[in-house]
Amino acid sequence: MIGNQSNKAFLNLLINSGVSEFTKNQPNNFYINENKIEQIEKIDLINVKTLEQLEKFINNSNSCSLKKTAKKTVFNDGNVNSKLMIIGEAPGKDEDEQGIPFVGQAGQLLNKMLTAINIQRKDVYITNVIPWRPPNNRPPTNEEILLCLPFLQKHIELIKPKFLLLLGATAAKSILSSPLSISKLRNKWHEYTSMNLNLKIKTLVSYHPAFLLRSPQFKKEAWEDLQNLQQLMNQSK
Ligand code: URA
Repeated sequence: MIGNQSNKAFLNLLINSGVSEFTKNQPNNFYINENKIEQIEKIDLINVKTLEQLEKFINNSNSCSLKKTAKKTVFNDGNVNSKLMIIGEAPGKDEDEQGIPFVGQAGQLLNKMLTAINIQRKDVYITNVIPWRPPNNRPPTNEEILLCLPFLQKHIELIKPKFLLLLGATAAKSILSSPLSISKLRNKWHEYTSMNLNLKIKTLVSYHPAFLLRSPQFKKEAWEDLQNLQQLMNQSK
């Protein structure tokens, strides 16, 4: 996760991603920035209009070297019409083998967390910041995050969810462009929007299930976050 990398590296990530102020809820439009990512991929991504095209685009992309070591591209799972889009960090071993996000131990905990607020996994939409497993489950580097962020921004634009749930520091910092820790970002609603999205998406940050497996004392706070999510989702029915 970004938090484990040096402050200097993280500042570089923010500067490279165009951050000029903290905290900022608007993402940067990497795929129309002339100076970033290879020209051919940028132009194609602008023309991506459907999920199928995006999946194909990511499958064919060679911009991020993680693809070389991964077994599968892990794109999505769940209901494309869901009001709720859940974003994790990157595939682990099980996800890499099956090509589906959140199917390992962390995924099982995620399923239980959703069940606790009367939501079935099949009714939500799930993806990750990074579509390829980093070797030995190491945290993705800042560069890898930057290279994959345009995919995620496009992904959100295509799904147009009403709510985003960002699980863990990588998802929170990538989407909110914020250096703040989960404990500072959670327990409040953020608004996500982007230049190509005529919509403000209510966004909640919470702990990653893999972190909760290692540090169960934070489950109480995660439970509060889930209840907040449930309350707002019920109000919007
Ligand atoms: N952790 C994640 O962030 N995503 C997955 O898909 C699995 C584990």
